[in-house]
Amino acid sequence: MKLYDLSKSYQLFERSERVIPNGIQGPRTPRFAAFGSYPAFFVRNRGARAWDVDGNEYIDFMCSFGAVVLGYQDPAVEKAVAAQAALCNSVSIPSPVMVELAERLIGLIPQADWVIYGKNGSDVTTYATQLARVATGRSEIITAKNAYHGFHAWCSHHAQGFPPEYQAHVLEVEYNDLAALEQLVAEYRGRIAGIMLCPIRHDAMRDLEIPKPEYFAGVRKICDREGMVFMLDDIRCGFRMHLQGSAMAVGADPDVVCFGKAMGNGHPIAIAAGKQSLREPANKIYFSGTHFLAAGPMAASLACLHELEARDAIAHMNAIGAMLKAGMEERAKAEGLSLRYSGPPAIPYMLFGDDPGLANIRYFCGEAARRGIYIHPHHNWFLSAAHTEADIKQTLDVAEECFKLTRQKFAG
Ligand code: PMP
Repeated sequence: MKLYDLSKSYQLFERSERVIPNGIQGPRTPRFAAFGSYPAFFVRNRGARAWDVDGNEYIDFMCSFGAVVLGYQDPAVEKAVAAQAALCNSVSIPSPVMVELAERLIGLIPQADWVIYGKNGSDVTTYATQLARVATGRSEIITAKNAYHGFHAWCSHHAQGFPPEYQAHVLEVEYNDLAALEQLVAEYRGRIAGIMLCPIRHDAMRDLEIPKPEYFAGVRKICDREGMVFMLDDIRCGFRMHLQGSAMAVGADPDVVCFGKAMGNGHPIAIAAGKQSLREPANKIYFSGTHFLAAGPMAASLACLHELEARDAIAHMNAIGAMLKAGMEERAKAEGLSLRYSGPPAIPYMLFGDDPGLANIRYFCGEAARRGIYIHPHHNWFLSAAHTEADIKQTLDVAEECFKLTRQKFAG
């Protein structure tokens, strides 16, 4: 197999480093992967594929870090966006599509009696904490240890430049551990506004964890007993586990749910959706950003939700994701490598059995990238409706070679 030449990517990365701190912001830098083996810039994408500045083609299992669920440049979504843009996109007062989408979401998501709009996941997770505090008149928010809810001051994992007080009212608890939650709640009784959890545990660089069947029912009971608001952060999993929100897949009944990423198939939109019981506090919160009410991404979201349903996309992602898992496990086993393949089929993550510093998986993913498979060593992957059986087969052919190389490099 011919290895990809990435020289234009790294020349551009050098240029980028001169004009942009760190060259590329956040986790989308090759420095957060296998530096030297990953492309740094994509110029084009379609369906499940992306092409880098050197002209190399990839099957992309990161799907814009989950933002794309039907496939890149999905024709139905792009047509809806173009039709909306021909009418209006950025608006002084909203377009009717704002109401249409809210009605659609309320019809779809069991917990939704109302919705508010933002752009990024962080907008709406922050909003949910405000809502819980306004609703209860309390300050403390519980989150799970290491969970990612965005880059804002209250929850950032990289809190440089924020006074420590900004996170002083956030309490942490072990995910999937009701006894630990009971203990924390007892300690802070009457002071906790709410708890924010994700439908699965998907922290970077560790196995994904599906909660115990009784976990969310227990969380609901505690919230009811203690007068706490249950916030579900479905930014990453939303519309990949269940069309009506991942709460339905994991038996959760939150008071407010946050969606972002996939809901616009790559167009910038996020929402918080809540129960009627939170309508009054919701009315009190000022939540405004210049671009929050742009019409184009709302049209994208309407089309995306329609297509997800019409194509039975979640069933497809489950089937194709199961193929990927089975194939990876089989090929690793054939090389005598132990694999930890975790997470739901459409949001998987892969680690090697004995790889505490993650050097093996970094090497494996780097070699895969140089052969046209874009997967990540530190962050979970994403399947989309555009990934096909042929894509999985091609991926597994590359994986077979990369498992062999990994065994040769690290054995003994
Ligand atoms: N919550 C979760 C679970 C996420 O995965 C993310 C983004 N990775 C966010 C919140 C923040 O979303 P955004 O990056 O769009 O602000």
